Amino acid sequence: MNKTSTFIWVSIILIFLLPSTAGRFFLDMAGGIILIIFFGTLLISGIGWLSWRQLKANIKNCDNCGANYFSESELCPVCGSHQNLNNSEVNIPASSATIDINAEETD
Ligand SMILES: [Zn+2]
Repeated sequence: MNKTSTFIWVSIILIFLLPSTAGRFFLDMAGGIILIIFFGTLLISGIGWLSWRQLKANIKNCDNCGANYFSESELCPVCGSHQNLNNSEVNIPASSATIDINAEETD
């Protein structure tokens, strides 16, 4: 009795939902929800990755006490010393470029 009623309900759902526009609407909604979840996850992970990069870029290392801190200011919150923002990482490719030029001249 219970099994036959379940079969009737399933057949009613199949007959009314799947071939009809309501069925298509239901499938479109399911697909839309999956797309929203998929792109939402991509967007959230992308924002998280960008904010993590921003956070890593803003983490400064104190030359005086060696503390890592997250701050926009040039003053260390641990020891209060002024940080000279020397771009040592930018200077390295410039010096290596001059080495390359010297190597070309010797050849
Ligand atoms: Zn410091």
